[in-house]
Amino acid sequence: MIDPYGREEMKRDSKERIMKRHALLLLSVVALGAMPSMVWAQGTGYPLIIIPTGKGPYTFPPGYTTPWDKVEINVTEKMSANLFVLHGSQGVDPAHPDASGGRAMALFGPDGVLLVDTQNRQVADKTLAAIRSFTNAPIRVLVNTHIHGDHTGANAFFAKQGALIYAQENLRNEMLRPPPRANGEAAPAPDIAAVPVVTYSYNPATRGQPAVTFNMNGETVDFIPMMPSHTAGDTIVRFRNANVIYIEDFYRNFGYPFADQNNGGSLAGMLDAIDLFEQIAGPDTTLIPGHGTLIKKKDLQPYRAMLVDIMAKVKMLREQGKSLKEVLAANLTAPYDATTQGDTQQSKDRFITEAYDEVRDFPPVVDGKRAMPRR
Ligand SMILES: [Zn+2]
Repeated sequence: MIDPYGREEMKRDSKERIMKRHALLLLSVVALGAMPSMVWAQGTGYPLIIIPTGKGPYTFPPGYTTPWDKVEINVTEKMSANLFVLHGSQGVDPAHPDASGGRAMALFGPDGVLLVDTQNRQVADKTLAAIRSFTNAPIRVLVNTHIHGDHTGANAFFAKQGALIYAQENLRNEMLRPPPRANGEAAPAPDIAAVPVVTYSYNPATRGQPAVTFNMNGETVDFIPMMPSHTAGDTIVRFRNANVIYIEDFYRNFGYPFADQNNGGSLAGMLDAIDLFEQIAGPDTTLIPGHGTLIKKKDLQPYRAMLVDIMAKVKMLREQGKSLKEVLAANLTAPYDATTQGDTQQSKDRFITEAYDEVRDFPPVVDGKRAMPRR
């Protein structure tokens, strides 16, 4: 059994703190005894869902922007005694109304904290406070699953806490030389403190194999570089003992698929990413998307089928000479709306536009980016 506090930390504890902890433990045992049997049954195994992801539907008034002071960062899932998931609260963030920001994970214990992603910059203090609610261990390692701000926004903050940042080289390139903004303006210069220090690359010949493996806190953690899928700098993170893989954003079950093509993403790459799971995950492995609900690998299949169907239909229409506007008007996602939460018009249009841009004259990845047509 893994000791979540770590032996070293226990030694440092004063007798008084140990007694307090003992009293708290007794209290929690009493409290568990008083809980209804259903809650107790869930408590016998992992994962433990602490705060379920919101379901919506959500509406925001025009011009609404996220009130960051209202966003809470909580432990939402426990994957083992010392592997916790952090996520934001629902109903406040229009980019992610079901749970603000992107999931972060913390493996903790006597060897220090290993973090997966860092949430939005604006809530960095809250993310750290959430981590400090369960461990005092130093923050030593951070791996970024992809470049988006809800996953890397607090990189500089956590680097200052002592984290060494790992990521694909493409992610580092995307950060150092960001693609121009939609309006054609140059993106602002990056904060150098936020840029990954240790890099590795995806190699099709070693597809699915870890680029880095950490043995710490009783876990074996694999950083597995992914093919260009959500972006060209994706990494998934496998925790072998907990039987968990953080699969970031190439899959989602709130809103339609998003391949960030400017940062090298690709819908076809998402199919390749899904197929890799036959090789690297068992039927009971818990897959943790960056957003939405936890899944198993069988849940990837309907998503895969939808990608194949939509890409084929868009390809056919584009080959018939249809414009993007005409393809959008064909409402190709209609058969999937009933089973897709967060199926906003913006989410549908983004997905169809990606398919339209990908099925013909799709630019190659250069330095982690693609020179996509401006729209
Ligand atoms: Zn995300």
